[in-house]
Amino acid sequence: MKPFVPKLVYFEPDALDYPLGQTLYDKFKGMDVDIRYTTSHNQVRNLPGESDLQKYRVAKSTLVVGIRKTLKFDTSKPSAEYAIPFATGCMGHCHYCYLQTTMGSKPYIRTYVNVEEILDAADRYMAERAPEYTRFEASCTSDIVGIDHLTHTLKRAIEHFGQSEYGKLRFVTKFHHVDHLLDARHNGKTRFRFSVNADYIIKNFEPGTSPLEQRIEAAGKVARAGYPLGFIVAPIYIHEGWEDGYRHMFERLDAELPAEAKEDLTFEFIQHRFTKPAKRVIEKNYPMTKLELDEEKRRYKWGKYGIGKYIYPKEEEEDLKTHLFGYMKQFFPKAKLEYFT
Ligand code: SF4
Repeated sequence: MKPFVPKLVYFEPDALDYPLGQTLYDKFKGMDVDIRYTTSHNQVRNLPGESDLQKYRVAKSTLVVGIRKTLKFDTSKPSAEYAIPFATGCMGHCHYCYLQTTMGSKPYIRTYVNVEEILDAADRYMAERAPEYTRFEASCTSDIVGIDHLTHTLKRAIEHFGQSEYGKLRFVTKFHHVDHLLDARHNGKTRFRFSVNADYIIKNFEPGTSPLEQRIEAAGKVARAGYPLGFIVAPIYIHEGWEDGYRHMFERLDAELPAEAKEDLTFEFIQHRFTKPAKRVIEKNYPMTKLELDEEKRRYKWGKYGIGKYIYPKEEEEDLKTHLFGYMKQFFPKAKLEYFT
């Protein structure tokens, strides 16, 4: 699983006035990547491809280098106060990914070069709430680690929050390309989370992301670099042998993590769910998927704006909880369960 290299890169011309814009331009020029220009990162049109499916594939390997104009951050309750916008979109091809519905016609990846302006805005949010801590989530609209080997934006942010008095950073990833982040001066202010799952789910539904083994090794490195660590198990998905699949995942984590890391671990559990609009998009983008999307086998839960979601029936949900909570307690008795949803 190699680090992501885009096949096509667009620049907003003004992005070249920023040091990161220039660095990225030089980097891609040297790599012989096809470079084009766009007036706005929100309006990249005419991507190559004959069909919608081809265009979608091309978009997922297209990087747009732009300037983040909106410096008003969205809220990101309950795990953080704000979403910090360093990037949008992802090169992964997880069949169930919610970005397919939220990004609609713009599935390409955007990175923003005005990092210092974004961090200044974060400082203003922190100042408003001081002396309370303000937590920023960096992976609401992308898998930021997946492109950070190119931009080092996340590394810059980790060090920024490391020096801050009242700021904390968190993010989650399915990629193992973390080596450049290991020496960042994080001062314990960043919680580094990995999204993990049973092998079956990763193999069948998460193409274009790192295998479980590599994610777990990366988690070990991150723990040894002294970062507070966390795991999101999502989507928890019932499949043949799921009990063993999840047990094996916990066993591997237990074997990899150093004892100190186990003192301060967090777990977030999210069962598989889908909405009707998401089902339509998944079937369009991944027509051969084996992902089970049968409303009849699920329980309907009312949601915001009238769009409800389909989750597991009560009995199966309880079974999932019993197993997952049990493994967590058995292998990591000191871990904190943040939520099951
Ligand atoms: Fe979506 Fe995360 Fe998969 Fe990227 S890695 S496609 S953000 S679920």
